[in-house]
Amino acid sequence: MTFLFNSDAVRGAIFAEAFARALPELPFSMDPASVDPDAVRYLITWTIPANLARYRNLEIVFSIGAGVDQFTMTALPDHVKVVRMVDDGIVRMMQEYATLAVLTLHRQMPAYRAQQRECLWRPLPQPQAAQRRIGVLGLGVLAQAVLERLKPFGFPLSGWSRSPRELDGVTCHHGADGLDAMLGETDILIVLLPLTPDTRGFLDKPLLAKLPRGAALIHTGRGPQLDHAALLDALDTGHLSAAMVDVTEPEPLPADHPFWTHPNIVLTPHIASITQPESAAQAVIANLNRHFAGQDPVGLVDRRRGY
Ligand code: NAP
Repeated sequence: MTFLFNSDAVRGAIFAEAFARALPELPFSMDPASVDPDAVRYLITWTIPANLARYRNLEIVFSIGAGVDQFTMTALPDHVKVVRMVDDGIVRMMQEYATLAVLTLHRQMPAYRAQQRECLWRPLPQPQAAQRRIGVLGLGVLAQAVLERLKPFGFPLSGWSRSPRELDGVTCHHGADGLDAMLGETDILIVLLPLTPDTRGFLDKPLLAKLPRGAALIHTGRGPQLDHAALLDALDTGHLSAAMVDVTEPEPLPADHPFWTHPNIVLTPHIASITQPESAAQAVIANLNRHFAGQDPVGLVDRRRGY
């Protein structure tokens, strides 16, 4: 029985040390070339290796990242469990980024940056937090953590998911009607949806049009969810005031892409949240212990839904 680590060596060394301490009886390998393929029961990887079929006794594939949209699910036998990364480091970093982004937009930093470039010292009218409605697309692990972190600021908070949810201090919406209701009352929209066939291209012109005039976007989901032309059009017509974009398609953007230089777009290179190897190793070890005890791992993916 072997755990195969298929990612970069620096992270691998941290995983190896944590595994040696916590699960000394479980052989840990970072070398697919030398491992006995029949011994591999657990694999952690970012993408599905082309030669996956050689691991005939595979039980679980762990994603090294928070999403599993990069996995070709059809390449995996049906009985193999797929587990995304749910770890404290990812959650904390997303809380930081979302807070930074909300405050950047709430306190009108793109406008003040533009004024600074023109040596213009001019206070702008400032809405108070109670008047700035935050809506989150997705109400999963990350969205809930972000909403919790935003509570002390006093923004009215709402969120939208596929299935009905109840969260203290958050107006929860679901389904198509719920989406329209939330968008109409959202001044800053945060995207924390997984990339699935249902959410690809989701942030399109009709969706952005449902936001109130002057609203702003924080895109921290996955690049292919956003229609770039629709965002540019919404910003250039003044329907949206600003956007903070962390994920794009492709990544990186080509040098001539308008997002690089748009005055009302703050662009970051997919850094909202990055797997932290120390806490990720602990999360995987805890999940293996759950698996050994006959329980489902945290972050188990419903392969039919795609998240
Ligand atoms: P999660 O716990 O699986 O939550 C996903 C949420 O999205 C759930 O509330 C789910 O609804 C909702 N959802 C999915 N499909 C939907 C649909 N078609 N319509 C309405 N709601 C839908 O995922 P998570 O851990 O919070 O992560 C969310 C995403 O964040 C990841 O998949 C990844 O794309 C992104 N992410 C980005 C970064 C970055 O650095 N930019 C880092 C980490 C993660 P239900 O509650 O009804 O299931």
